[in-house]
Amino acid sequence: MEQTILSVQNLEKTYHSNQLDSPVLKGLNLDVKQGEFAAVMGPSGSGKTTLLNILSGFLNADGGKVLLDGQDILHAQQEELTQIRQKKLGYVFQDFMLLDSLTTQENVYLPQVIAGKDQKEMMTDTELLFRQFGIRDIVLKYPGQISGGQKQRVAVARALSNHPLLVLADEPTGNLDSRSGEAVMDAFIKAKEEFGATILMVTHDAKAASRTGRVITLKDGEIRSELMKNGSDRSFMEEILHYLGEA
Ligand code: ADP
Ligand code: MG
Repeated sequence: MEQTILSVQNLEKTYHSNQLDSPVLKGLNLDVKQGEFAAVMGPSGSGKTTLLNILSGFLNADGGKVLLDGQDILHAQQEELTQIRQKKLGYVFQDFMLLDSLTTQENVYLPQVIAGKDQKEMMTDTELLFRQFGIRDIVLKYPGQISGGQKQRVAVARALSNHPLLVLADEPTGNLDSRSGEAVMDAFIKAKEEFGATILMVTHDAKAASRTGRVITLKDGEIRSELMKNGSDRSFMEEILHYLGEA
């Protein structure tokens, strides 16, 4: 039986601005199992980024629990939270967030250096990730010299480099053309299959979502539905599109 890596229980978040309360998450429940690749979908403004930012420890919640491998990240002390962010979580953002003054290889080294990883292990791990993601020939290039799809594969390599318990990705294909987006999705599939990664990805793109095993849809601050993949990517995509069409 697979272990639950992430357990979100009754999560609540309200933004306050101009004396106006906007409840965004209203008691959201969600579990992610080890080795799972799941997608979160939902209309713009439904709270997907808010959810990911809370799971990342970047944003406070108003109520509920977020257990990462049993550890409550909402109530972790600052130092503990820093450790969790550095070693237990990996992040992939829509706009890559690579440092332009570092080579692609150095971008992937950086979080490993910060985590205090052994240098030899760091080189071996990075080399393997670059090889698996088909970006070995760009290791010495700078972000400004490579394509968006390549940048995002570098970002996926970086997210995996400290062997996190969970990778969080917010619209990772949102700034890419469909071909580059597919190459990035191939990298996520490899992350799962070759590196055993557990991934929670927010996406608008039904095709990207169809590559995962489960699609969770949000609406009005709650989980609206969960669709499980039973057949091919193709048939799952049709199921997702059909579902969204009726939503
Ligand atoms: P999604 O990623 O699904 O598009 P978000 O989580 O970004 O949704 O936003 C959910 C809702 O919360 C939106 O209505 C948005 O306007 C609002 N919101 C997001 N961030 C803030 C903020 N910092 N202050 C006030 N309202 C916010
Ligand atoms: Mg968003």
